[in-house]
Amino acid sequence: MIRTRFAPSPTGPLHLGHAYSAITAHDFARRQGGMFLLRIEDLDQSRARPEWEAQIFDDLAWLGLTWDGPVLRQATRSAAYEAALTALLGRGLIYGCKCSRRDIAQAASAPQEGTPPNWGPDGLVYPGTCRPHIAGHLLAGQARRLDMAAALAGCSKIAFQELSDDLITPIDHINNVDHFIDNIGDAVLARSDGAAAYHLAVVVDDAAQDITHVVRGADLLSATPIHALLQHLLGYAKPIYHHHALIRDSNGKRLAKRDDAKAIAKFRSEGASPDDIRAMVGLPTRSNS
Ligand code: GLU
Repeated sequence: MIRTRFAPSPTGPLHLGHAYSAITAHDFARRQGGMFLLRIEDLDQSRARPEWEAQIFDDLAWLGLTWDGPVLRQATRSAAYEAALTALLGRGLIYGCKCSRRDIAQAASAPQEGTPPNWGPDGLVYPGTCRPHIAGHLLAGQARRLDMAAALAGCSKIAFQELSDDLITPIDHINNVDHFIDNIGDAVLARSDGAAAYHLAVVVDDAAQDITHVVRGADLLSATPIHALLQHLLGYAKPIYHHHALIRDSNGKRLAKRDDAKAIAKFRSEGASPDDIRAMVGLPTRSNS
């Protein structure tokens, strides 16, 4: 059975890009008698706000989207993330890192390195300063990083499957070990305050919710190889992905949460209908779908 999800972070209003993801995931599941689940990605408790969460429920209901089962909140899931991290730790794949962003920028651009630093899905690729580590020796207050080379030992490539815009045609994304080492590096799986990082939480939760198809914006495509690797390491089934083009404003600028001008709530207050929102993002209206 098809199971899709929408996984917004309650750190701002839903905008047109969210509407596109949510409607596409919802309609895809409903067309095939599947389920559409909702997850609130409130890992970052310093930015999550109950009023944004309430607005998410309200906007989704107004768009005519219904979700199945209880809402999963990441803030309640720390034991599940800890268990996954412990499994990786037990295999010697995790180390503690005390570097600040500044330390990383300095080390990555050190003249003796020769080549310019690479940028990955989480910013500068970590130069590995803390990597020489004593297995199992972790200090509190340090971020937890995946030792990428160790995690990939014995693998030549990691693949995941995508559906193109027709949601039918499969595309294989295959990344070799060099891509992981050079363009991703030792990803952070838990932050120094102990909270799980997005990459770990999203993989654990997609598995816990038995998600078969992940629909999300193309801005997350570069992070998906990390998710596929974690699914492989943790023995989870791999969902199929659809990364859709980002919805841009009339100047071609990418919409961000702070661009309240494109918030669904704003269009609502101006009298737009749910079908108007569908039309704005190029999706069939409900009467035509
Ligand atoms: N929580 C993320 C966001 O709101 C989405 C993550 C995902 O769909 O995997 O941008």
